[in-house]
Amino acid sequence: MGSIGAKDVPQLLDANGRRIDGRGLEDLRPLRITAGPLQQAEGSAFVEWGDNKVMAAVYGPREVHPRHLQQTTKAVVQCKYNMAAFSVDERKRPGLDRRSQEISKVIAEAFESVLFVEEYPRTSIDIYIEVLQANAGTRCAGVVAASVALADAGIPMVDLVPAVAVGKVAGTIVLDLKKEEDNYGEADLPMALVPRSGRLVLLQMEGHMTRDELKRSLDLGVTGCKKIYEVQKQALRDRYAVSAPSAGAEVAA
Ligand code: ADP
Repeated sequence: MGSIGAKDVPQLLDANGRRIDGRGLEDLRPLRITAGPLQQAEGSAFVEWGDNKVMAAVYGPREVHPRHLQQTTKAVVQCKYNMAAFSVDERKRPGLDRRSQEISKVIAEAFESVLFVEEYPRTSIDIYIEVLQANAGTRCAGVVAASVALADAGIPMVDLVPAVAVGKVAGTIVLDLKKEEDNYGEADLPMALVPRSGRLVLLQMEGHMTRDELKRSLDLGVTGCKKIYEVQKQALRDRYAVSAPSAGAEVAA
């Protein structure tokens, strides 16, 4: 959330309810997903979402490293979310920080509940998420990419997992925050869900909203996730179509 003086805060909504990039309140940023761009990974996906560019690569079920993490009754799901030093306008210090550790943990937990981990004891399912360019919502872009990568690898799971952040800017609930909205808005609520059952597998919140706003945010997030789910499925269809490879599935703003 923003910490600078009110006079420096950009106008996040105009008189017509248009956002800083011209979107309506319930519009997603343009989303494009390419399944299987990496040759060496078992499964991969590249997500370009607004100004975010996020690559996911997955492996498994495979031997657990480090070995002491091995579990006798189920697979462990390990996630490593990393933001490249060149992904933000001010150079980010490379390496593990608390934020990346937290994001890695919540994403691993989200996927543990959709992968059939009991079927693969003593193994590891490894998810690598590399943020090449960041503009808010990168954990959601990471989840979207990782679930397409897991499907691309043929790792069985309950369903694909779409994700999106809803937030509150200038007192109004909006879908899919971009950087300025995340920085200067009043709340940021990233979520991920299993569309078939409606079960939320990731839900976090920064900032403040009322109970009624929270309910409306969840409804808006579910609507957004359903659109993202369609793009995820199309990316996989394109990948496995017999015809010439496509340039990736996308949704316009
Ligand atoms: P998310 O990317 O999931 O929205 P945050 O809300 O923590 O996660 O971050 C919002 C945005 O702030 C990021 O997408 C990125 O653009 C920017 N950001 C995060 N961490 C840093 C950092 N260390 N340096 C510069 N910008 C950052």
